[in-house]
Amino acid sequence: YHLLEQYHIAPSDMENLKARLLANENPWGPSKKAVAAIAESASKGNRYVYKSCLKMIEILAQKEGVAPENILLAPGSTDVLEKVAFALCMKGGNVISADPSYMSLVNTATSIGATWKNVPLRADYAHDLTAMAGVVDADTKLIYICNPNNPTGTLTPIEEIKTFSRKVASKAPIFIDEAYLELLDEPDKQTAVGLIKEGHDVIISRTFSKIHGMAGLRIGYMVAKPERVKMIQDLVRTEMGISITSLEGALASMNDIEFQNYTRTNNKKNREYVFAELTKAKMNPIPSYTSFILFPIQIPVKDMMAKMLEKGVGIRGYDIHGKPYGRVSMGTMDELKLFVKTLNEIVS
Ligand code: PLP
Repeated sequence: YHLLEQYHIAPSDMENLKARLLANENPWGPSKKAVAAIAESASKGNRYVYKSCLKMIEILAQKEGVAPENILLAPGSTDVLEKVAFALCMKGGNVISADPSYMSLVNTATSIGATWKNVPLRADYAHDLTAMAGVVDADTKLIYICNPNNPTGTLTPIEEIKTFSRKVASKAPIFIDEAYLELLDEPDKQTAVGLIKEGHDVIISRTFSKIHGMAGLRIGYMVAKPERVKMIQDLVRTEMGISITSLEGALASMNDIEFQNYTRTNNKKNREYVFAELTKAKMNPIPSYTSFILFPIQIPVKDMMAKMLEKGVGIRGYDIHGKPYGRVSMGTMDELKLFVKTLNEIVS
C-alpha cells in the first residue's frame, strides 16, 4: 500500500489497469521454458535450495568471468541494494548518487541515519562523475551509480565509469546498478564487471526482473570482491530468501537466448514507436536505452496520473528539480497505443 501511495494509485485501480506501464516490467515474460522449469521444480519445494544455489553461482561466475566467491545470489536486486546499504551505512556517514536516480539504496541508507549527497546529472543526462568525485570525503560510505539510469533511461559512457572507479574506489566502495544492462544492444561492452576482475572495490547488481521478465519471481545477484560478498553473508543469508522455483526458472531463462533476444528486439521496437509518438506530440522525450521513457509534462504529476487512470492507463510521475515528468514503461503494442491515444487526448 505504501508503494501504491507513492505511485498515486489506489489498489483497486492497479487491478483494473488496461495498460500497466508503471513499473518497468517485461510484458512478454517469463519465458515459456522458465515457466516449465518452475512447474517442474515446485515438487522440490520441501527442500532448502543449497545445492541449486551453488549450481547457479557457478554458472553465473562463468558467465561473468569471475570466481564463485565473487557472486552473491539474492531474491531480486532490491535485496542487494538494501542489504549493501544496511551493511555499509549502519553507522551513518554519507552516500553519493546522481539526482535523479533510482532511490532504493539511498532511501535505505538515509532511513538508518546516513546523509545523501545528491549530484545533478549532466545536461546530457550522464552521471556527473567529476562532480561526484569532488564530494567524496572521509565519511563517504558508498557511491551509487545506476547505468543505464532510472528514471531517465540514459547511459553514462562505460569508459568514464571505469576511469572514475579506478581513481575513486579506493576511497569509498562504488555500487553500480546494472538492472537494465541486458536491454542494451551490446551489454558485454557496457558492463563494469571488468573492474572487479581488476580488484577494485566495486559492487555490481543484476536482476532477472527485466530482460528475463521474472519481476514477481524475485531473483537477482551481486558481483563484488569476495570480502564484500562475505560482508553481506555474515550479516544475513540472502539465499534463504530464494525459492527453488525462482532459481530453476532463472536457470532455464538464462539458457533461453531466443527469449532474451525477443525481449530486447521488441522492447527496442516499442520504445522507438513511443519515442516517435511523444516527439510528434512535442513532448520532448529523453532518448532512452531502457524499457521506459521519461518526458516533461505541463501539468502536476498527480493530475496527469489521475487523467491517465481514468482511461485505465498506469504510468509513473516524478517531480525532478521542481518540474513534473511522466515515465512510461514499455508494454505490449496495444497497451502503448492506448497510452499514446490517452496522452494525446490529455495534451489537446
Ligand atoms: N534497480 C533499478 C535501477 C530498477 O529500476 C529496479 C526496478 O525497477 C531495481 C533495481 C529492482 O529490481 P528487482 O526486481 O531486481 O528488485
